[in-house]
Amino acid sequence: MDRIIIENLKVFAHHGVYQEENEKGQNFYLSATLETNTRNAGTLDDLDLSTNYGEVCTFLHRYVTEHTYKLIETVAEKTAEAVLLRFPLIRQITLEVRKPEAPIALPFESVSVQITRGWRRAYLSCGSNMGDKKAHLDGAVEALRADERCRVLEISDWIVTKPYGGVEQDDFLNGAIMLETLYTPKMLLEKLHEIEQSHGRERKVHWGPRTLDLDILLYEDCIMSTEELTIPHVDMHNRWFVLKPLVQIAPYERHPLSGRTIAQMYETVAGEEEEYPASGQDEGHRMRG
Ligand code: ATP
Ligand code: CA
Ligand code: CA
Repeated sequence: MDRIIIENLKVFAHHGVYQEENEKGQNFYLSATLETNTRNAGTLDDLDLSTNYGEVCTFLHRYVTEHTYKLIETVAEKTAEAVLLRFPLIRQITLEVRKPEAPIALPFESVSVQITRGWRRAYLSCGSNMGDKKAHLDGAVEALRADERCRVLEISDWIVTKPYGGVEQDDFLNGAIMLETLYTPKMLLEKLHEIEQSHGRERKVHWGPRTLDLDILLYEDCIMSTEELTIPHVDMHNRWFVLKPLVQIAPYERHPLSGRTIAQMYETVAGEEEEYPASGQDEGHRMRG
């Protein structure tokens, strides 16, 4: 990844825990490393194909002047996100906020906070077997598109599948979604729960009927397991109804634990396809966004 580097942009602003800092103000210095692809702009010598660092400096200056926070941690967090939302070609930013006049009663040169934030790729599976199934899945995509912290990149077909897990219930409509997001895995899960709830999701029977189920399959190369979230999704490699749509949009993506591609995992379970009714396998509305 190429980098555009801004060093020590001076901004007079009012951040601080003490009232005096908020009233009087002091100098802050911002340094930013912007990860982006400069090859097209560099080859064609065309600024429109790059991120204008002058504009980034003006934006940083305005943002940090116009807002007031207690902590430089918050200045860094909010400003980094604002930059990523405002400049679409920047994939990642490392931002340092330095405060050399901080009220510390000891000799020191400077204190600073440095963070790295960026767009992260995630794959979701979606399923519905109650009500207007297609409307629920389409609605999930719409809700993700409406969120500025998510960019929906690819959507699979919605396919009809038999229920899993032995509960007698209606057929499912299943699909897979590729997105880029500024959310952490935990925040993304919260967002998905919010969308499920807005579609009337109720959790009664595990693996029982549902209007909308949204699971995180993969999140970059992340491997994690907490009480509320396991990534990669713990059973994805065994599920035809997950891999069939996923292989359409990400055949060469790899499972970070097994190292196997989606295509390889799909091949292992593809035999199960025969169990599904041929007539209803494809809702045939492949959308891209
Ligand atoms: P399954 O996870 O086997 O597909 P389910 O989707 O029917 O089952 P839910 O009732 O929707 O299960 O979710 C139960 C909990 O699973 C969620 O509240 C969430 O905290 C947790 N969970 C763990 N890992 C994930 C993940 N990767 N994606 C979504 N939810 C997860
Ligand atoms: Ca699920
Ligand atoms: Ca779920």
